[in-house]
Amino acid sequence: MIGNEQSITRKQHQSLQCPVCGDPLSFQITRSKKSGKPSLMMKCLRDGRHFRSFICDRDYVKRVLEHLEEQQKLVNEDHH
Ligand SMILES: [Zn+2]
Repeated sequence: MIGNEQSITRKQHQSLQCPVCGDPLSFQITRSKKSGKPSLMMKCLRDGRHFRSFICDRDYVKRVLEHLEEQQKLVNEDHH
C-alpha cells in the first residue's frame, strides 16, 4: 500500500514538459464563449507555437481544478 501511495505522489509532482524545448507546460483554465464550459489549456511557457493543447473533458477539468485548489490552499497555509 505504501508503495502505491509513493507512486501516486511522484506522479503528482511530475510536470509535463514541452516536446520541443523541454520547458514545463503551463496550465490555464479557459471558458468557452459559446457554452461557458471550462476547458483546460496546456501551453509551452517559452513559445505557444511549440505545444498547445485543449482538454474539454468535464470530469478531467474538474479533477484538475480541485487539484489546483488544493495546491492553492497549501500555498496559503504556508504564508500564515
Ligand atoms: Zn517549448
